[in-house]
Amino acid sequence: MAVVYDRVALIGLGLIAGSMSLAMREAGLAREVVGYARSAETRDTAREIGLVDRVTGTAAEAAEGADLVVLAVPVGAMGAVAAEIAPVLKRGATVTDVGSVKRAVVEAVAPHIPEGVHFIPGHPLAGTEHSGPRSGFASLFRNRWWLLTPVEGSDPEAVARLAGLIRAMGANVEEMDAAHHDLVLAVTSHTPHLIAYTMVGVADHLKRVTESEVIKYSAAGFRDFTRIAASDPTMWRDVFLQNKDAVLDILGRFTEELFVLQRAIRMGDGQHLHDYFTRTRAIRRGIIEAGQDTSAPDFGRSQVSGKDA
Ligand code: NAP
Repeated sequence: MAVVYDRVALIGLGLIAGSMSLAMREAGLAREVVGYARSAETRDTAREIGLVDRVTGTAAEAAEGADLVVLAVPVGAMGAVAAEIAPVLKRGATVTDVGSVKRAVVEAVAPHIPEGVHFIPGHPLAGTEHSGPRSGFASLFRNRWWLLTPVEGSDPEAVARLAGLIRAMGANVEEMDAAHHDLVLAVTSHTPHLIAYTMVGVADHLKRVTESEVIKYSAAGFRDFTRIAASDPTMWRDVFLQNKDAVLDILGRFTEELFVLQRAIRMGDGQHLHDYFTRTRAIRRGIIEAGQDTSAPDFGRSQVSGKDA
């Protein structure tokens, strides 16, 4: 495949950046991939496993002269990183990010982007519960969605070039408004994560059910919750703090629905429960038909986990 950007700089060397590097290098999409991570430990690991072509000592050193700079740090750290690299950004370069929240990232990053540099926020809907420089793999984005939320006045050519890189890594690209993105993700990812965290927390508190019983008898439902609830605490803390409005909106609706179901159970209203579960079953079928999950009994988790974030 053809080179899309001469030099790509990855700021942050965790699951997403690592997977990008592996995917780009496998397909020959960049002449050089340079990377920076905050801790010396991560930088050493990245060097040791050859995660990128070159590891730099500072974020600015990585970003200097890069044609594409990818901010791949927790959402709450994006603004500070953008401020650090802003003075060295090359004219005509593109800055993107992979944060799971978009409105807050745009607010934190856009003010630092100099004239003549394109800022095109993005979010790959692909991930696992693992994090760090050793967790990435080249096929992470294959057949997954990658949402771009270009800001007003974004250069269509720069957007098309970035979309071309993303497609060449195997993902499908769609553009949407940042606020709409945050609402969609609050429904599809953020609130479900909070529910998983809560469910695992509840089981942990239920001393009548011993830990060994929870583990031994955990059917797919609870097991899936524990997998989700093992996700990176820093990343998810930032997601909830930075997508507060949309998450609180969806959580309010969730609580109302939960009370309705609770009442149906108490009143023995089997018809209500049956109708409700019939509707939700149709939603699950739709996800499978759209190719975003498998109908295998183990949800395909034995192959690759494909949790969206
Ligand atoms: P990760 O594996 O935990 O890697 C995060 C990277 O950011 C590490 O290199 C870390 O450096 C660095 N970092 C952490 N805190 C920092 C700070 N305060 N300042 C500068 N650098 C810092 O995370 P990830 O899963 O790749 O996630 C990165 C971004 O992708 C996040 O914004 C997340 O919302 C988004 N995202 C995640 C997923 C997912 O499922 N994981 C999916 C889609 C999008 P050290 O290792 O040196 O600490």
